[in-house]
Amino acid sequence: MSALSIQDAEKAWGSVRALAGVSLTVPAGALVAVLGPSGCGKTTLLRCIAGLDRLDGGRIRVDDREVAGPRSHVPTHRRRIALVPQEGALFPHLSVADNVGYGLDRAARRGGRVAEVLALVGLDAHHGRMPHQLSGGQQQRVALARALAPRPSLILLDEPFSALDAGLRAELRRDVRTALRADGATAVLVTHDQAEALSLADEVAVMRDGRVVQMGTPTSVYRTPADPWVAAFVGEAVLLPGTARQGQAETVAGTAPILPDAVADSPTPVTVLIRPEQLHLTVPRQAPPGSVTATVLRRDFHGHDTLTVVRLADGTELAARTLDGDDQHSPGAEVAVRIRDAVLAWPAA
Ligand code: ATP
Repeated sequence: MSALSIQDAEKAWGSVRALAGVSLTVPAGALVAVLGPSGCGKTTLLRCIAGLDRLDGGRIRVDDREVAGPRSHVPTHRRRIALVPQEGALFPHLSVADNVGYGLDRAARRGGRVAEVLALVGLDAHHGRMPHQLSGGQQQRVALARALAPRPSLILLDEPFSALDAGLRAELRRDVRTALRADGATAVLVTHDQAEALSLADEVAVMRDGRVVQMGTPTSVYRTPADPWVAAFVGEAVLLPGTARQGQAETVAGTAPILPDAVADSPTPVTVLIRPEQLHLTVPRQAPPGSVTATVLRRDFHGHDTLTVVRLADGTELAARTLDGDDQHSPGAEVAVRIRDAVLAWPAA
């Protein structure tokens, strides 16, 4: 069963088509991330789902009940939807427990639901605190607990981690996903952060200019993006012009097999996608066949891996993700570059 189903949603602000025919289905119990750049219509979509804005066209169903359509607009408080905003927006004069219990009837409050959801977000010991006595991350946990408490049909999360620093964000993301799963909740997360969408969601809907341009699991969206734009937006991408010939893509960075069915067999100009982890760097004396030489421009050390940017003889710059043991590739060094495995390619625009 789908908890949320959106069909051809349209919404214009003056001449701006914020939603230009959005269709999206969220299965019950799933966490779907809506990922897109600033201005693509994510917030508008969320507000229309919540009932804060009216659709111009299309339909929205929640738990198989139409809440927005040509002749219907169910008000927000009757949609069984909870919204977790960017910054918790807790009631400052209420304790943690009272914030969480705010929307519950007396029976649910007495039944221990407040303690249950506070335990899910790891804050059972903080029930008596006031919001100003909590860190930003803890406030977001309380906001999530408050959203979960009445067991809504759907939880909407609007960039809920954007105000937090990187370390805290990663920890809270994991805990939020665990809490949503443990409670069997269905959620839609809106974000412009691809790492957040890929690491958290069961499925990612990529939005561009008011449309969903691709929806799939994080792996499929990353590995088989629908077009070069999605490829570049979802993860780091090297996009090179090339020629497809008999199942091989020929580029300035070397030749690699093309993933099945990507393009026709006759020589065709293509745009080739290479992810940084698909580029292998070696010292020139160990260069495997098919390598091309390059010069290291810079290295960005990330702890778990390193992004090494190299320049080919024709000036093309490539970013290669390398793991440990590659320390010899310091700036200025000559290296041999090879594409490790099969690549995606699209007919050139
Ligand atoms: P961001 O990540 O920056 O919040 P977004 O993807 O959420 O962006 P929206 O806020 O939905 O995008 O905006 C989509 C388009 O609609 C933008 O061009 C925006 O300027 C416009 N827009 C949004 N809300 C309104 C409004 N209330 N009045 C007029 N135009 C609006």
